[in-house]
Amino acid sequence: MIPNTASIPMTLSEFCIAVVRYCDVTGGSVTSWKRSVQHNAAVGGVVSSPHLLGFGADIVYDSPHSEDRLTNHLTIALGFGLTLIHESLHDHLQPRGWR
Ligand SMILES: [Zn+2]
Repeated sequence: MIPNTASIPMTLSEFCIAVVRYCDVTGGSVTSWKRSVQHNAAVGGVVSSPHLLGFGADIVYDSPHSEDRLTNHLTIALGFGLTLIHESLHDHLQPRGWR
């Protein structure tokens, strides 16, 4: 199932710019962005994943994880209009307010 685009609070261009700027500020690199339905299922993505529309990006960092870094990155993401979800091997970014 492809997510409904009506509730996405930013354009794809705005999301792309926000992710690039977030990476510039945090020393982050993107490891996953736009996914096909088949690839999303193969990597265990949820059926309504924002990755299906290019509104999800997974990030790894040059510096090691710490709670201070996570708190800082949550604040930076918020400043770019993004929600950061911390996962075991990466951080996931999506537009703030994504449903
Ligand atoms: Zn993700």
